Amino acid sequence: MAWRHGRDRFLQHLRDTQSAVRTAVRTCGALILAAGLLASSSCTVNPVTGKTQLDLMGESQELQLGKSLYPRYTQQSLGEIPDPRLQAYVDHVGLRLAHVSQRPNLPWAYNAVNDPEVNAYALPGGKISITRGLLSRLDDEDELAAVLGHETGHVNARHAAQAYTRNILAQLALLGAGVYMDSHGTRNARLYTVAGMLGMQLMFAHYSRNQERQADQLGFEYMTKAGYNPEGMVGVMKILEHEGKRHPSLFDRMFADHPMSSERLATAEARVAAEPPSVRQRPIRKKTFLAVVHHIRETRPAYDRFAKARRLIARRKTVEAEALLKKSVAEWPNDGLLRGYLAGAEAEDGEMQRALDDAGRAGKAAPQIFVVQLLAGKIFLKAKRYAAAVPFLDNACRILPNLPDVELLRGEALEGAGRRREAAQAYQKVRQLAPGSKAAEEAGRHLAALGVVG
Ligand SMILES: [Zn+2]
Repeated sequence: MAWRHGRDRFLQHLRDTQSAVRTAVRTCGALILAAGLLASSSCTVNPVTGKTQLDLMGESQELQLGKSLYPRYTQQSLGEIPDPRLQAYVDHVGLRLAHVSQRPNLPWAYNAVNDPEVNAYALPGGKISITRGLLSRLDDEDELAAVLGHETGHVNARHAAQAYTRNILAQLALLGAGVYMDSHGTRNARLYTVAGMLGMQLMFAHYSRNQERQADQLGFEYMTKAGYNPEGMVGVMKILEHEGKRHPSLFDRMFADHPMSSERLATAEARVAAEPPSVRQRPIRKKTFLAVVHHIRETRPAYDRFAKARRLIARRKTVEAEALLKKSVAEWPNDGLLRGYLAGAEAEDGEMQRALDDAGRAGKAAPQIFVVQLLAGKIFLKAKRYAAAVPFLDNACRILPNLPDVELLRGEALEGAGRRREAAQAYQKVRQLAPGSKAAEEAGRHLAALGVVG
């Protein structure tokens, strides 16, 4: 997506805040405040190693952080796959692993998100996501258990807490201090500048190679304890190695931390070989898995095209992206996410009537996906179809509340639709959420035009 510039500025903020955090941390046990926000650093006992380590956050903060970031990360990964049976299944497999891990009592939650890239990630506190791109490449439940086990390992060893601490504290410090990442004036922003709207970037932890090795080892341990065939870990390592060769540049930011795929594959094979035959010969759980992921697998070509289209959109090649998306939508006309992106490309390419038709259909088909609601709202707003834009922007604000840029758009739609009092409330909310930001200035101008003294 087109947020490189915002991202550079954000990274600068991040670096500044990080160095502030670093200077604040002197010794184990010191109490620190990051930009006036949370974060008591503490000495905690690592649940896996039993050793004492310095963490920038204690367990309760780890839990709080995971809980508050989960909805945003899920939506930035294009929302949950709208399939309750699949979600329950992924969660069930994850919980089997969590229950045999060192921290069985965390509020573990596992979901599957629509992101078409090959990835999986963990947030502090035990919130774990696997992408559609990776899920559609797995062959059985044992492989799913290997992926979720690896991520569960990161959380148990508190890698997430350690690696995310600085980045995420910095993000929270920015948000908390009202240093909000403007998306360059929502009025003229390109349709797809969704990441900026979230006020943050999706950050994957940068784990060290040793942390990756440890997560593999822990994942192997959990899946074996939980009764899975450890061959699943070998299968996953093969997929990652293959994907890494196919998309080396992509691979870097995915599972990714992980440039050591051949070593990891060899290690997994050696571990399997060291298990007794009773473990190695466990049945592979394939039947239920294939039934549950059937639709994910049959839509994989369409979603692989979608992945390509998103990369093209990021390079502003919307005409090529539109052709790919059209093909996918022709195959799966009821998929709101694919159609929502098609609508965006059509709007970018100046085909407004088509864009409006597709935005309307997509918005109705995917009521839980933030990006689709936002795109539909922006497209109707761009066409000055204010009353039609309102319900989509209402939905966007309901899915992820309190994002100033989105509240601002909602205000503009309400104002255009003649709902002046509600519009004024929305603008006032923007000013409270992000005082001093561009969005707040814009809201102030609207309030003045409405004759409201702010
Ligand atoms: Zn990892």
